[in-house]
Amino acid sequence: MDVKMPVWSPGYYQRLDFANSVENFQVMDDSKQVTGWRKMPGNAWRVNNRSGSLVISYDVRTSRPFVGTPYLDEERGYILPAGVFLYPEGEINHSVTLSVKPYLTWRNVATGLDSVSGKQFVYVAPDYDVLYDSPILVGNLEELPPFYVKGIPHRFIAYKPGEFDKVSFMNDLKKIVETATSLIGDIPYKHYTFIGIGPGAGGIEHLNSTTVSFNGSNLGELQNRLKMYFFLAHEYFHHYNVKRIRPIELGPFDYDNGSRTKMLWVSEGLSVYYEEMIVKRAGLCTEDELLNAFRSNILAYEGKPGRLYQSLTQASYETWSDGPFGRTGDDVNKTISYYDKGPAVGMLLDFKIRHETKNKKSLDDVMRALYKEFYQQRKRGFTEDEFRQVCERIAGTSLADVFDYVSTTREVDYKKYLQYAGLDIDTVSKNIAGGWLGISVRERKDSVFIAGVDWNSPAWNAGLRQRNLIVELDGAKPDVHAIEPILKNKNPGEKIDLLVMQGNEKKNISIVLGQKMEAPFTMSRRSAMDELQKVILESWLNDRKGF
Ligand SMILES: [Zn+2]
Repeated sequence: MDVKMPVWSPGYYQRLDFANSVENFQVMDDSKQVTGWRKMPGNAWRVNNRSGSLVISYDVRTSRPFVGTPYLDEERGYILPAGVFLYPEGEINHSVTLSVKPYLTWRNVATGLDSVSGKQFVYVAPDYDVLYDSPILVGNLEELPPFYVKGIPHRFIAYKPGEFDKVSFMNDLKKIVETATSLIGDIPYKHYTFIGIGPGAGGIEHLNSTTVSFNGSNLGELQNRLKMYFFLAHEYFHHYNVKRIRPIELGPFDYDNGSRTKMLWVSEGLSVYYEEMIVKRAGLCTEDELLNAFRSNILAYEGKPGRLYQSLTQASYETWSDGPFGRTGDDVNKTISYYDKGPAVGMLLDFKIRHETKNKKSLDDVMRALYKEFYQQRKRGFTEDEFRQVCERIAGTSLADVFDYVSTTREVDYKKYLQYAGLDIDTVSKNIAGGWLGISVRERKDSVFIAGVDWNSPAWNAGLRQRNLIVELDGAKPDVHAIEPILKNKNPGEKIDLLVMQGNEKKNISIVLGQKMEAPFTMSRRSAMDELQKVILESWLNDRKGF
């Protein structure tokens, strides 16, 4: 019999090869006799299975506290099941019983798994897919005041959540959950758990739980609170969008190779779109804060030269090699992030559907239709064509113009779509003060290196590249913090002299500074709106269906 460890964990689209962290592998049969096994290539072990029942034991080496990898220290254990539990090949649909033995004085276990009644810390999963989608945090954890939506319990259990107003925080989280569930009109789980694994960055969605890096001690500040609400709304909304409303490739999962899809812009990009809409409709941010959130998405996208190179479908498909936020290193200018362009295209799609249907339908109807027709009725994900068909059926017209923004790098005409909702956007490029060189720098071992070069900038055109060492700037040894002020004080057309090391070659390069232009992409209400524009804007900002 082969037993296998997944090479990835759903929700984090990178190969992590968890089998490499397994040590001290041992197999015993019913009569406690050691049984033979051998490591197979990749993520499998072949064990001699003569007696019918086996005990396999092993250690898992862990290194960093992160939502996408298992972690253990003296204060908590984070079990990311795909990185901890082996499955018997061909038996992925087999049910699983899991017994957790907390270390010494540890008191709590947080997980989305169902517990076995009458037995402490014993859990069941109907199959390995559910097990792999249900992380477990063990330690001395704090539970925030739970809340109920439609009688269904929602818990927030965290390791060292910090000091903050926990009652009002959970009241706000309840509003987020109520707004998200009323948008789709169904709650598909019996209980939901937010699991805070401690300070850090990142979160991953799961079937009826999410694991988030969490530190509440800075939530007193409005900006931090808002960021946290967007983040939690995003992870929460994922239990619909990607777990159930999903591209056909994202389930059943391929634990040996990973599952690639061209639709992460739907699963991630539209989850960013909805995190922003949900927080607004829950009454937790203002119209200005909402428009500003979309502005940030657009600015991030428009500021990347990769927008001329990579489409949303490519960014989705290439994420396994590019990384979740696009490439770094020499190819940094060749990628975009579906976290930036995805929500922007989501907004255009929503406004177009609302405009075409006189606001009788919206992107919300698309999400509800996908949930009902694919998750509930056909019990599967949708193809790219099916996604588009549902959008166009609800819009009652072709959406070729919007889908062009998905599959090509065509320049986005924001104005056209925003005016459907009575909104305007400032796309006129303006001069940025100072001389433009187009590099970012960082210091290492007392030397200043080029960390990034803007494509087509004066620095780029003069041949400067990432990792070049700046030996002198205008005849003096450069100070990493002084470069920006120096450039600010120069004018476009003025020269800057650099002595750089490129590989082993020292070069004098004189560069004429350019003029940087940037559009602000600020969004605002138009002064004059017709009836339809008013209706669309009002319902887009505030609609809550209720069920
Ligand atoms: Zn996400």
